[in-house]
Amino acid sequence: MKTDEYGLEVLQVDPPNTSKRYSTCGFTHDENRDQESFECQKCGYENHTDYNASKNTGLQYLRCPQKSKISGVQTRREASR
Ligand SMILES: [Zn+2]
Repeated sequence: MKTDEYGLEVLQVDPPNTSKRYSTCGFTHDENRDQESFECQKCGYENHTDYNASKNTGLQYLRCPQKSKISGVQTRREASR
């Protein structure tokens, strides 16, 4: 059913570690995130938390191109504000 697909999509787009994971090297750690700043504890990369998190979710969409038609990204943006 379509409804089930939507439910799965939500889980994939917003996993609990999205804001703690550095999208490029893949290192995930609680201390990667400090308020609104992000610093990878493994490679030392620094950036804004939301920017990194959106890169993580963007990569997930790239891995599932057949699902990118679903407007999950827009819904997520509204929910996070
Ligand atoms: Zn890193």
